[in-house]
Amino acid sequence: CGIFGYVNYLVEKSREDILNTMLDGMQRLEYRGYDSAGIAVDGDGYNEVVLFKEVGKVAALRKLVNSSDIDKNKRFVSHVAIAHTRWATHGQPSRLNAHPHRSDPNNEFVVVHNGIITNYRELKALLVSKGFVFETETDTECIAKLCKYVYDLNKHRDLDFTELAKLILVELQGAYGLLLKSVHYPNEVIGTRKGSPLLIGVKTEKKLKVDFVDVEFPDFAEITVDAGDASANGMLGVPMGGSDLRRSQ
Ligand code: GLU
Repeated sequence: CGIFGYVNYLVEKSREDILNTMLDGMQRLEYRGYDSAGIAVDGDGYNEVVLFKEVGKVAALRKLVNSSDIDKNKRFVSHVAIAHTRWATHGQPSRLNAHPHRSDPNNEFVVVHNGIITNYRELKALLVSKGFVFETETDTECIAKLCKYVYDLNKHRDLDFTELAKLILVELQGAYGLLLKSVHYPNEVIGTRKGSPLLIGVKTEKKLKVDFVDVEFPDFAEITVDAGDASANGMLGVPMGGSDLRRSQ
């Protein structure tokens, strides 16, 4: 029901700062209603992503995060985190069905999604036939698995994240606001929407380039900020309601 992403870049942050930003951001979306919540953050090793998911309130997720033995003091010069408050449409409210959803047990691609993918059955059948093992009842999971499928198929082409996202988005029907994060594209997040609102905020930054993939715009939109201020944060969040896209920078 609500998605929230956070990109910090150039300014070193502790994992605790990042997790708190995420949890606070999710709490700002609580008014929309939800049944479960989850976050993906970077792990300790290169190429690692860690997921936290919980049924119920963001407060319950905060408790889970606080009680985990993940190193909260680890520091990151750059980091991408994505989060979700879910209002179930496909699959009962449960920890497993909560977002983020993942492409595989190594969390190569993770996704948070607001909306419904109406052709998820066809996509799931295709991906199952290619050997993917689904672990949830959601429509959303097919997006994460489709990312890996398309990525692996095109490995030799050295696609950037935006090019990859475009190949995936053409396969999705229905309404969505979604964020993608991948170990293959560290420090980058894809934010995109169709029929759902998405708000992007950019805190001034020396060289922060935000590529915004929006299938409702005829051209690919790109926001580049060059504001000579070393404090660095990007934020992606959903929405105060309505369907207008608003961009701030
Ligand atoms: N259709 C997705 C699900 O059931 C997303 C629901 C939502 O927008 O929260 O998991």
